[in-house]
Amino acid sequence: MSKVYYLKVAESDKYEQILEQELKNKFKKGMKVAVKLHMGEDKGMFNPTLAKRTIKVLNKLGCEPFLFDTPVTYPGARESKQVYEKTAVKHGFTKESIGCPVIISDDYVGVKTKNLDLEVSKELLGADAFLVLTHFKGHPASGMGGAIKNIAMGCVSPKSKKDQHTVGIPVVSDECTACGTCEEVCEYSAIKVKDKAVINKNSCWACTTCVYNCPSNAIKSKASFDALMTEAASGILKKFDDKPVFYVNDVRSITKNCDCFSNPGKIIAKDVGIFMSDNLVAVEKASTDLVKKQEGRDVFLETHHHDPYLQIKQAEKLGLGKEDYELT
Ligand code: SF4
Ligand code: SF4
Repeated sequence: MSKVYYLKVAESDKYEQILEQELKNKFKKGMKVAVKLHMGEDKGMFNPTLAKRTIKVLNKLGCEPFLFDTPVTYPGARESKQVYEKTAVKHGFTKESIGCPVIISDDYVGVKTKNLDLEVSKELLGADAFLVLTHFKGHPASGMGGAIKNIAMGCVSPKSKKDQHTVGIPVVSDECTACGTCEEVCEYSAIKVKDKAVINKNSCWACTTCVYNCPSNAIKSKASFDALMTEAASGILKKFDDKPVFYVNDVRSITKNCDCFSNPGKIIAKDVGIFMSDNLVAVEKASTDLVKKQEGRDVFLETHHHDPYLQIKQAEKLGLGKEDYELT
């Protein structure tokens, strides 16, 4: 059973103590540590103060950390390396304020998985250790956006992000009864129902939410978004099979949508706290479980009609960890 550390009060010094205690035997002196986080489209991002506190621990251990993220496929504050660099500065992610170099990575190395030809950040793959800092919140394409998504989407090129959002674009079969459910649950307005459901491939993000919700099983996809995203995370993490990896989930400011939106929307659950583990599946499961327990309902499923546990189960299937955990 994996240990997941839980801190209700994120500001507590215990954060530094737990992190130091957990990292000191694996994140050794002189190691180049790639610290992945989202530096924000506009309002939502990984908390810069928590990032700074994390880097302080790594510096104390004698590691050589760097913060990094990658540009995205669409116009906005992260549309290119140059634009994202300015955004990072605007949001307080600078070497001076955080305590380590900040890199917007746009140099990639090919990594092949079953359905994807990934282009993975060269800086990440050149590191000796990997620390994944995730702002845990809702997501329209996967119900919940946690560490799995942070790795799968956040560590790859714009093309590889796009591939994860297109390979699984579904098709509608003749079994369609025109009930309209898919149109109701599609958050991208990509499916319209008249005599039959019709998907507009240009606006479809291949989230496969319509597939899960069709009562007639009339929509099929080559691979679900949960499966593709987890496959990408697995392909990347395989490169760290013999290197240390650690996960920190910040489960506060739980917005409806992810930090990729300029406005991530309303808060859908009260703050829960910080979760830390070296087991990806366990940290995601514990974070999701405690949000559900605290709210008394599955807010991610309710908000996005997409089961947040699907990606966690998929990750376990791919050997990225075990769901069993012990909260400490
Ligand atoms: S939910 Fe299924 S049956 Fe209903 S309109 Fe959509 S595709 Fe057709
Ligand atoms: S997969 Fe279905 S629900 Fe998702 S964006 Fe495409 S049409 Fe909409």
